[in-house]
Amino acid sequence: MKRSSFGESCHWACDWLERVGVGLTRARVDVLMAIAAFGGAFSADKLYYELQLAGAACALNTVYQTLNRFESSGLLIRGRDESRHAIFWLKQPDGDQYTLRLRCPHCGRVKEVYAPMAVIKLREAMEMNGLATSDLPIDVNVDCLICAA
Ligand SMILES: [Zn+2]
Repeated sequence: MKRSSFGESCHWACDWLERVGVGLTRARVDVLMAIAAFGGAFSADKLYYELQLAGAACALNTVYQTLNRFESSGLLIRGRDESRHAIFWLKQPDGDQYTLRLRCPHCGRVKEVYAPMAVIKLREAMEMNGLATSDLPIDVNVDCLICAA
């Protein structure tokens, strides 16, 4: 697997594609990383523009094909904006493997948040530092607002 056109490690994007059963190609990794950079709903044209800015050699037709593939794999949801143009956004996966459990070490308050990018990047950092990973929610100790006051 080559590096993505985004210049950073594509490990988490490869991991995510493998989890949803989509074969790895450079275009798919580039498209997923561009989607992640949006962090919300996007159109195929906007995504294509982002890919061009990042220097990805990815044709508009390839972007459309990849979005269709991601949608049929359950990775994306397709909707329409107020102008009736197609827009896409990442689907929240089932289960809690992308959940962060924020726990206050003083009072024990717990808040679970869905944060796929953060979880995948944390797992990547854990693996690179020789720590074991699992699909269980990751616990993060952080002072709650009451205890921090
Ligand atoms: Zn607290």
